[in-house]
Amino acid sequence: MSDATTTVPEADSDEILSGMAGEPPVSGEGRGFTIELTQDQKDIKDWVHGFAEGVVRPAAHEWDEREETPWPVIQEAAKIGLYSFEGLGQFWADETGLTLPIANEELFWGDAGIGMAIMGTSLAVAAIFGQGTPEQMGEWIPQCFGTPDDVKVAAFCASEPDAGSDVSAIRTTAKYDEAKDEWVINGQKAWATNGGIANVHVVIASVDRELGSRGHAAFVIPPGTPGCEQGAKVKKHGLRASHTADVHLDDCRVPGSCLLGGKEKLDERLARVREGKRSKSQAAMQTFEASRPVVGSQALGIARAAYEYALGYAKERRQFGRAIVENQSIAFTLADMKLEIDAARLLVWRAAWMGRTGKKFENAEGSMSKLKAGEVAVWATERAIQILGGNGYTREFPVERMHRDAKIYTIFEGTSEIQRLVISRAISGVHIQ
Ligand SMILES: Cc1cc2nc3c(=O)[nH]c(=O)nc-3n(C[C@H](O)[C@H](O)[C@H](O)COP(=O)(O)OP(=O)(O)OC[C@H]3O[C@@H](n4cnc5c(N)ncnc54)[C@H](O)[C@@H]3O)c2cc1C
Repeated sequence: MSDATTTVPEADSDEILSGMAGEPPVSGEGRGFTIELTQDQKDIKDWVHGFAEGVVRPAAHEWDEREETPWPVIQEAAKIGLYSFEGLGQFWADETGLTLPIANEELFWGDAGIGMAIMGTSLAVAAIFGQGTPEQMGEWIPQCFGTPDDVKVAAFCASEPDAGSDVSAIRTTAKYDEAKDEWVINGQKAWATNGGIANVHVVIASVDRELGSRGHAAFVIPPGTPGCEQGAKVKKHGLRASHTADVHLDDCRVPGSCLLGGKEKLDERLARVREGKRSKSQAAMQTFEASRPVVGSQALGIARAAYEYALGYAKERRQFGRAIVENQSIAFTLADMKLEIDAARLLVWRAAWMGRTGKKFENAEGSMSKLKAGEVAVWATERAIQILGGNGYTREFPVERMHRDAKIYTIFEGTSEIQRLVISRAISGVHIQ
């Protein structure tokens, strides 16, 4: 087991930002796709695994039962640099793209609820990073994490009660008050991970309802801004250590500088859209697309944890005078679990590599990876319960929690149906409904 207290190798923040912000290596110039991990990737894998095994797993049952944000565990992750801009930045900066999914798989192998409590911030960070100016990145990203002595989380708020899969239906508006150089945001966000408890909220709002999703923009809501309040906290089926809540925005005023990317860029984009030229930027969709293989890797972590637990159990548990693994039906199920998990991982790694090296997603490979990994996680955790029999159905054994946690991976970041829609459109060129 790795030493969970070892900190991530030191790196300079500017170096990380420039590594993250730099153009992805052009096809052929970067490292080609390989599943042979570099020493750095192996070290990070072992390091995150050590934390997952030594700190996250032992805390998983408690925080699932408490249904509260596991602040002490997040703080432990911050102390070793895993929950930090530098830690996340190092995962992101890897030019093969594999380090981020590898680290996520290990963390979520430890526990998905706590994993999401630690990684939920990264969705807001990805939005700031993807759409913000260098000044905005420098100002807001550190505030998403806080410090090891005073850890903070961040929230990315796109979904609304009437806008889930259909992001274009967003009703939250942002109106520009030119006299004060402020944006006034009004609306209600639903299902926000870390919503209301976040230091920094990134909110997707419409600046021009007539333009649908092409009229969306992303705003940072600074800490303590009046008019940004938590609504109802959601009681969930799984991922219960991760806080999910509505967020109310009532005449919430933020400085003009809180528009990610800046007003000039927004005005140029809106002008292009109004002229009938295609807009490159759809704020929320960009963020989702970039994160799909990473979300898939989280599902993989759960699936692998359930598979390993079921394998160990099947070798120990005896019925009819033999270990249950000696029955073909059990052994073949375990073989299929291993097969499906490894197949899903290859799709996740391929998509992560394609994204980082700037390859064109001709067949919606990012969506393919998330779809496959999410469905494998639900299936594998259900099979694990079956292999454990009655024990699998109880809260005394972790596969029950893993099954509840896995289900979200067919729902958020685009449901399985939406992934199939995206893939089928990409492969057919037909606008499938
Ligand atoms: C635990 C949790 C955390 C979340 N965290 C965040 C967050 O941090 N930020 C955020 O913005 N959102 C978050 N969400 C919201 C999540 O992204 C949405 O729940 C998801 O996009 C689905 O939207 P919906 O729930 O409104 O379902 P709906 O869109 O109402 O879908 C209901 C069903 O209809 C199907 N469906 C819809 N349209 C089609 C279609 N065109 N073709 C075929 N089938 C279709 C769907 O696949 C689904 O099965 C979170 C949700 C949960 C549960």
